[in-house]
Amino acid sequence: MSRVFNFSAGPAALPEPVLRQAAEEMLDWQGSGMSVMEMSHRGREFIGICEEAEATLRRLLAVPPHFRILFMQGGGLGENAIVPMNLSGGGAVDVVVTGAWSRKSLAEAGKYADARAAADTRDDGHTSLPPPAQWRLRDGAAYVHVCSNETIHGVEMATLPDLAALGCRAPLVVDCSSHVLSRPVDWSRVGLAFAGAQKNVGPAGLTLVFVREDLLGRALAICPSAFDYRLVADNGSMFNTPPTYGIYVAGLVFRWIEAEGGVAEMDRRADARAARVYGCIDGSGGFYVNRVQRTARSRMNLPFFLADERLQDDFLAGAKAAGLVQLKGHKSVGGLRASLYNAMPMAGVEALVDYLADFQRRRG
Ligand code: PMP
Repeated sequence: MSRVFNFSAGPAALPEPVLRQAAEEMLDWQGSGMSVMEMSHRGREFIGICEEAEATLRRLLAVPPHFRILFMQGGGLGENAIVPMNLSGGGAVDVVVTGAWSRKSLAEAGKYADARAAADTRDDGHTSLPPPAQWRLRDGAAYVHVCSNETIHGVEMATLPDLAALGCRAPLVVDCSSHVLSRPVDWSRVGLAFAGAQKNVGPAGLTLVFVREDLLGRALAICPSAFDYRLVADNGSMFNTPPTYGIYVAGLVFRWIEAEGGVAEMDRRADARAARVYGCIDGSGGFYVNRVQRTARSRMNLPFFLADERLQDDFLAGAKAAGLVQLKGHKSVGGLRASLYNAMPMAGVEALVDYLADFQRRRG
């Protein structure tokens, strides 16, 4: 067996010990005589798995008691509809557009609410972050939506905005799909946060939702029951059958993070990984280019370009031969992209940096 270093933006690499444990337990989970996939979601064993996953997640991110943690389905794009169906009341929704994902959130919210862009960095190709003081926030908006890490454009908010300090009383909704669990969260600034699992958490199909209790029970009449946060919360994420296997693997990932030193350690590693790769790009004398303003750069998703884009196919073929895969950029921006999630070991980063330097030596 030979494993590659996988730089995919998602579904993405998972920690190897997690995959091994899942493999070991595949046919017989802890003497139950069955796979977790085969268990009733209402049985004692699975309820235990689910409760432990939630408790570990709550510890890892220090989620306060007045927030509920929901395990849902539908992914980030599903939440783009589920959030406005639950929180907008059909009223005003302000969306800060910093890249492709928040733009999708704006468009989807427009189906249910009076959604408007409070800021939009389209003019600079989404290479910066608009200062919160310049956001055009409306009085009485039902919520303000941000994407705290734009997976495609490689733009990350170093801190969450403090809406109260801006005189805005609306709850903040955060799409943190592509950097959840890579740093602590200041919950005092958050009304609701959601994250698709397939980057830092586990298999695709599971969505994490953290919702402040006072925001439950506001769903529009058209909201499907299975997506009504109040019903999902009241039923312990088991109003409908949850993505059981995804929850189990996520629970293993949560335990792995805890054993590795928790979110503080993930934060430290994210800094170290990103510094190494940006350092190499910035030190290449223009051979490799990242266009994002330094203070807005993502530690998880690093888009970059070869100054001579004709070299790109050779770059990717050579990388693949060296066991470095999924380095192609998203089709909407082109170029290259290295995603460095929690599960990417420093050895993978060093292998990437070595390859970048070697390719430049040969082709620069
Ligand atoms: N938001 C962000 C920040 C994302 O990175 C993604 C997926 N790459 C999505 C939303 C959409 O997630 P899904 O495909 O699970 O709906």
